Amino acid sequence: TAPLSEVDPEIAQAIADEVGRQRGTLEMIASENFVPRAILETQGSVLTNKYAEGYPGRRYYGGCEFVDVAENLAIQRAKDLFGAEHANVQPHAGAQANVAVMQALMEHGDTLMGLSLAHGGHLTHGMKLNYSGKNFRIAAYEVDSESYRIDMDKVREQAVAERPDVIVAGWSAYPRQLDFEAFRSIADEVGAKLWVDMAHFAGLVAAGLHPNPVPYADVVSSTVHKTLAGPRSGFILTTENLKKKIDSAVFPGQQGGPLMQAIAGKAVAFKIAGSEEFAQRQRNTLAGAQILAERLTGADVAEHGVSVLTGGTDVHLVLVDLRHSELDGRQAEDLLHQVGITVNRNAVPWDPRPPMTTSGLRIGTPALATRGFGDAEFTEVADIIATALKPSPDVEVLSARVAKLADDFPLYEGLETW
Ligand code: PLP
Repeated sequence: TAPLSEVDPEIAQAIADEVGRQRGTLEMIASENFVPRAILETQGSVLTNKYAEGYPGRRYYGGCEFVDVAENLAIQRAKDLFGAEHANVQPHAGAQANVAVMQALMEHGDTLMGLSLAHGGHLTHGMKLNYSGKNFRIAAYEVDSESYRIDMDKVREQAVAERPDVIVAGWSAYPRQLDFEAFRSIADEVGAKLWVDMAHFAGLVAAGLHPNPVPYADVVSSTVHKTLAGPRSGFILTTENLKKKIDSAVFPGQQGGPLMQAIAGKAVAFKIAGSEEFAQRQRNTLAGAQILAERLTGADVAEHGVSVLTGGTDVHLVLVDLRHSELDGRQAEDLLHQVGITVNRNAVPWDPRPPMTTSGLRIGTPALATRGFGDAEFTEVADIIATALKPSPDVEVLSARVAKLADDFPLYEGLETW
């Protein structure tokens, strides 16, 4: 029962320092969020002690009666939230969920058609070093070279030519909504299964601010920790038809014992995601991203070569295009870090700069919306970023503006254990 600070002061210090960092800076990495205290509690609970291979009511271990309650709640809430026939809440993370989907839907050597990594797709959608790229023939689609959007006519042409077995729709860096109806009709035309990876925008779907892929897709995979603001983990939604295949691909196909503390956290996250307060936060997330996009498309930044891909956003992130700026992605990321704003550099499609440098930034608003930011605060943040990306910014003045915002919106107030 000795506290962490006694058992392992070095780790306790690393956690304390990380709490300080999260409190004192503005988190704008598009894939991050802050879980509520209730979810921190599940993550640090005794559920971490329990082995529960199998599924509720069909476990390979004794003593599962209470973890069954938690997993059944997570399953039911995921189904209700997204209107799905079946949910598997055991994937340890998004990448594990995706490998299970591939195992369930594909044979070695089948063709997978997903958005290219260089154009905003995820590693698990066919990158050559990933399990997906190593085991399947990849026919990646790209964004249009003028609009930077996915052109569904081109996806259709490519699908007809490549005859994929599975089409995956989803992204890690793309600022627009996807047309699931068009993806479904293309999949039907070429006899492919449709898999949607909604990891990034699941929270917007839950709040009704993004079309729901569930009615169109054979399988939907997701993370829980991005816009959904739950514990770091994944889940899969599917139909009655594919339920058995998906369940057996997750366990015993890919995983052993599920992380019951994370599954309990997912149950809590899905409950919260059904609330009006959550929906309001998603509206603030979206409005914040739109404010940022508008501010970063102004003439004062354009004259310094800064713009926004597709000219705006209809999701929770903005892709800043620095191809014509003197600043490259790495320098811009470092500069924002100096003023206290955390973002990640990101290659833009056909990026002329090398991958470790890049010509873009991915900036997201979910974590700040969770922190309580509304239009006024997002306007201030957008102005700080726009000023930072122009020549000779006054880092001290901008840091003070960031510090004021961070002070005005305290994080995890009153919490002493993490
Ligand atoms: N799918 C998409 C679209 C993602 O953006 C990510 C994470 O960035 C993942 C899957 C993988 O999730 P995880 O990092 O939890 O494995």
